[in-house]
Amino acid sequence: MRFPKAIEKAEQILTRFGGEAYIVGGCVRDALLDRPCHDYDLTTNLPPEHVIEAFTGYTVIPTGLRHGTVTVHIDGLPIDITTYRIDGTYTDGRHPVHVRFSTSLEDDLRRRDFTMNAVCYSTVRGFVDPFGGVDDIRAGTIRCIGDPLERFSEDALRILRGLRLAAQLDFSIEDETLAAMTACRSLLTRISAERLYGELTRLLCGPAAGRVLAGCGDILVPVIPELAPCIGLEQHSIHHDRDVYGHMAAAVAFAPADPNVRWAAFLHDVGKPGCLSLDAEGAGHFYGHNERGAQLVQKILTRLHAPKSRIARVSQLVRMHDMALPATPQGVRRWLRRLDETGLMQLAALRRADLTAHACTPWVKQRLAQLDAFVETARAQLAAGACYRLDMLAVNGRDVIEAGAVPGPEVGRVLNALLDSVIDGEVPNERDALLQRAAYLAHLL
Ligand code: ATP
Ligand code: MG
Repeated sequence: MRFPKAIEKAEQILTRFGGEAYIVGGCVRDALLDRPCHDYDLTTNLPPEHVIEAFTGYTVIPTGLRHGTVTVHIDGLPIDITTYRIDGTYTDGRHPVHVRFSTSLEDDLRRRDFTMNAVCYSTVRGFVDPFGGVDDIRAGTIRCIGDPLERFSEDALRILRGLRLAAQLDFSIEDETLAAMTACRSLLTRISAERLYGELTRLLCGPAAGRVLAGCGDILVPVIPELAPCIGLEQHSIHHDRDVYGHMAAAVAFAPADPNVRWAAFLHDVGKPGCLSLDAEGAGHFYGHNERGAQLVQKILTRLHAPKSRIARVSQLVRMHDMALPATPQGVRRWLRRLDETGLMQLAALRRADLTAHACTPWVKQRLAQLDAFVETARAQLAAGACYRLDMLAVNGRDVIEAGAVPGPEVGRVLNALLDSVIDGEVPNERDALLQRAAYLAHLL
């Protein structure tokens, strides 16, 4: 087991001060899995005021004194040091009414959520693992400590932490733990929107997100009730071999781990319920589901307090997920004008994920080939320095005024018309040609 020198130093300082010190939680789990760790936790029998005293001369921040946590900075590394504690009764499904400090390491490990998060390690004494966490980590199993129903009733956030960790680590959830997640799911409504959004985003970006989501739709319904009618909704199409929810979960698996694209993949067909119609041959169509989906995404992500830029981008991607992407240079430039390079590549990635999550019919293969052609043309246009934004034009507002446009709104109108002409290939993006065109447009617009 290898930990940064700063961690060992903190351990030594605590032991020299007469205390016990163990590295604990996610960083031990991640070290056993040979994964990078982003936050370090130590646990000690010393009360917080003694911890503060032990680190005299270091930067010490009383992060959560009431819960016994102080953060010390050693060689630039922040380390959370928490006193052994027992969490009192929970009344709100999230926070213990009071916490009690303890002198027993085992008490502290027992209050933790999963066996894999209750392994502790000391560079001097080795592992302490009373709940079999090391075996569960080796087997890739997520298992509650104690009675899962009780543990999720105490704090429902643990349900989402479990799903998120399963997606991040590609672990499976032990049967009793999974059954309790389902039984306790309605308690998720007590969790703050920010925490729900944070855990869901991390879940969605995990390498095993597609598999985990496919198996936990019912658990997520209290958080996103709009998913309920998607679960089991038959598509009546030879191009689909999954129900609407299963298709969206599969699309997540095929999407790059960009939170905008993953969120869009997960919700791209959320507008389908209520839009189903059957044609004379009995084939299903979902007219209007893009627009309806975009509106629902706006509602869902606003309710979850997602950042405004995320809400705007994800609902835009969902609105556009089915639109034609013509592989002509002109078609590509028009799309670049609407979405910019980043947005366009996100839309292409979403389209690819969506198509790959279909049944593999000749029609689907043909659409994938069209998408390949579109992306290839887009790359070529970008590499050639194609003009698709006003600031890329070979003339600016001043030039346009000199060519005869009246200063004021007309300048913008002329510039935009010039950009349209360049994008459509009617005028080259060259100064002389543009000035000539501007002089002509100035009298028209
Ligand atoms: P990550 O850091 O990747 O989010 P983590 O498991 O380290 O995963 P932290 O929030 O850093 O999560 O928490 C550190 C440790 O605190 C956990 O490993 C676990 O032992 C304990 N813990 C965190 N949240 C809870 C909770 N809601 N209930 C019980 N124990 C928890
Ligand atoms: Mg952590």
